[in-house]
Amino acid sequence: KKVADRYLKREVLGEGTYGVVYKAIDTQTGQTVAIKKIRIGKQKEGVNFTALREIKLLKELKDPNIIELIDCFPHKGNLHLVFEFMETDLEAVIRDRNIFLSPGDIKSYLQMTLKGLAHCHKKWVLHRDMKPNNLLIGPNGQLKLADFGLARIFGSPDRRFTHQVFARWYRAPELLFGTKQYGPGVDVWAAACIFAELLLRRPFLQGSSDIDQLGKIFAAFGTPSPSQWPDMLYLPDYVEYQYVPPPPLRSLFPMATDDALDLLSKMFTYDPKERISVQQALEHRYFSCPPPPTDPEKLPRPA
Ligand code: ADP
Repeated sequence: KKVADRYLKREVLGEGTYGVVYKAIDTQTGQTVAIKKIRIGKQKEGVNFTALREIKLLKELKDPNIIELIDCFPHKGNLHLVFEFMETDLEAVIRDRNIFLSPGDIKSYLQMTLKGLAHCHKKWVLHRDMKPNNLLIGPNGQLKLADFGLARIFGSPDRRFTHQVFARWYRAPELLFGTKQYGPGVDVWAAACIFAELLLRRPFLQGSSDIDQLGKIFAAFGTPSPSQWPDMLYLPDYVEYQYVPPPPLRSLFPMATDDALDLLSKMFTYDPKERISVQQALEHRYFSCPPPPTDPEKLPRPA
């Protein structure tokens, strides 16, 4: 069945946060694409034109490490987003027990993640929903960020529609404290969680509720002091916590190099104003010191 006289629908790829994702063929180019069908809800005219206009802006976000939004159009009251088709994602790589990730492989995956983020932050677009299954991997091993800006445009994803309730694990402390004025630092925190997950091969901070998530963060880094993070006291959901001393970061990541740990600790800074920026992270010595990041084509991937 053809959509918009152009896309030949194939099988369902999965159910995502915002709706069903289909595989399809672009009959104009022969290219395989993924079409994300987004439920717009009971809007008066069927399609939310504000969302449509904002989505059009995302089409301008072109970068080798960002998944390309090829097309978008309303169809039968749903918004259809057409993306380049990707083979797998970083979650599948991290979970695959047959895959060994060398320090150079981890560096390469993190570098591609940060490069994609840097491009968007330069244009003042935040991701806000970074997690390993949003980092898609293409046929030549290139990692590309997916779902950029969607969290902001469509609001916090409705987790009732999806199995993916785990985005909490990547949430920055200021979000857990209910801040309404978050910035690019939320993506840096999430990228740090992904860096940690690459090193540990399991999610690092697995909270079972938002409160428990904060507890996991405090257990890993110690409770933040007001001198460390002065603005914390004024956040909407701030409550006082019993003091927890920070364990040495080294004890949590016995295998990481000193460079890796230094970058990790700067990305996991409590105060978002003090947290390292994506651009600064890319300039950190972790990336310039050996081993070099693995060439994407040589990265291990699921069979
Ligand atoms: P979520 O919102 O839970 O992150 P998505 O809506 O991004 O999920 O995607 C749902 C499913 O569709 C996932 O299983 C994902 O693997 C697949 N998918 C999404 N985008 C693409 C793409 N560009 N290429 C191939 N598969 C995709």
